[in-house]
Amino acid sequence: FQHDRDSQFILSDFAKDFYQNILHNHDQGQSIGLPYLKERGISLNTIKKFELGYSLESWDGLTKAALEKGFQEKFLEATGLTIFKEEGKKYDRFRARVMFPIHNVSGRTIGFGARTLKTNDKSTPKYLNSPESEIYHKSDVLYGMFQAKQAIRMADVCYMTEGYLDVISLHQGGIENVVASSGTSLTENQIKLISRYTKNITVLYDGDAAGIKASLRGTDLILEAGLNVDVVIFPPGEDPDSYIRKVGDNAFREYIKSEAKDFVSFKTELLAKEAKDNPVKKAEAIREVVQSIAKIPDSIKRSVFLQRCSSLFGIDEQVLISEYNKIALQEN
Ligand code: ATP
Ligand code: MN
Ligand code: MN
Ligand code: MN
Repeated sequence: FQHDRDSQFILSDFAKDFYQNILHNHDQGQSIGLPYLKERGISLNTIKKFELGYSLESWDGLTKAALEKGFQEKFLEATGLTIFKEEGKKYDRFRARVMFPIHNVSGRTIGFGARTLKTNDKSTPKYLNSPESEIYHKSDVLYGMFQAKQAIRMADVCYMTEGYLDVISLHQGGIENVVASSGTSLTENQIKLISRYTKNITVLYDGDAAGIKASLRGTDLILEAGLNVDVVIFPPGEDPDSYIRKVGDNAFREYIKSEAKDFVSFKTELLAKEAKDNPVKKAEAIREVVQSIAKIPDSIKRSVFLQRCSSLFGIDEQVLISEYNKIALQEN
C-alpha cells in the first residue's frame, strides 16, 4: 500500500500549501491569522521557516479545493483533513485556526496541529491535531525535529518542550536544538528518535503542576533508555515561549544554564520540599529517587547518582545501596 501512503503525503503537502496561501494572500489570513502571529512576536521569516498557515472560517474550503484538484475522498478521510458525516455531508476538520504543519525527519508534511484564536470560547479545544493515519503516528513524531536535527547534533543536547510555540519562539531566538512532544506524554520511540542525534536531553516543560508532573514521568523514561537528562523548571505561569519573550534571548540562555538540574537533584528537591519534616514522607521520597536511579542501565552512572542522592538527603550511602539492591532483586 505504498501507493496509498504516497497519496496521503501528496495531499498533506497540498493542504500545507493551501493553508500557507490563505495566511499570506487571503483576506482572512491577512486580517486575522497574520496579526495574531505578529502579536505573539513571530516574524515573517519564522512563519515561513515553519510553513505556518491559516484555515478558513468556511465549512469546506480545503475539502472543495482538494476535490477540485482531483484528490480522492478516501485520502481526505484517511488523513483526517475532512470529516465525513451521514448522507454524504463532509466538512473541514480545521477551521479558522493557525495551522502548524507537522513534518517527519525528512521534512515531508504528515499532519497538522491547529490553534484556535478564540481562547475564551470553551466549546472548542485550544489545539486540534490530525488523527493517527498511515503516515502520521503521534507517538513516533517530535514536532520540530526536521528543523532541529542538525543543531541537536552540533550542540549535543536536545531541548524537550511541550508545545509548538515553544519550539518556534526558541528557534527565533537562535536556540534551534529544540523539539516538542505536542501534548502527548513522551514515548519510548520519541526518545529513540532523539538518540540518533544526541544522548543528552534537557526537559523544558511549563512552570505549572502539569508540566512538573510530565517532567517527572519523562525523566524516568529517558533514564530507562540510557540517555542523560537534565530538567529546567520555569517560574510559575511561564513556558519557554512566554519566558523568552519576557526576558530576551540572552537572559533565557543564562536561565537554562544556571537552572538546569540533573534529574536526581530535580527529583530530590521537589520531593524533599513536599515531604518537609515528615520522616515517613522523606523515606518515601528517598525510595522514589532510588527507584528512578535503578532505571539507569549504566552501573557507573548509577553509583554516581546514588552518591549524589546520599549527600542531598543527608543519608548514609550504604543504606541507599541496600535499598537499590532490593529494588534490583525485585525487578529480575
Ligand atoms: P499557547 O502558548 O498557544 O497557549 P501552549 O503550547 O503554551 O500554547 P499548552 O496549553 O501549554 O499550550 O499545551 C502544550 C501543548 O499541548 C500544545 O502546544 C499542544 O500541542 C498540546 N495541547 C494543548 N491543549 C490541547 C488540546 N486541547 N488538545 C490537544 N492538544 C493540546
Ligand atoms: Mn501547559
Ligand atoms: Mn505552554
Ligand atoms: Mn504557551
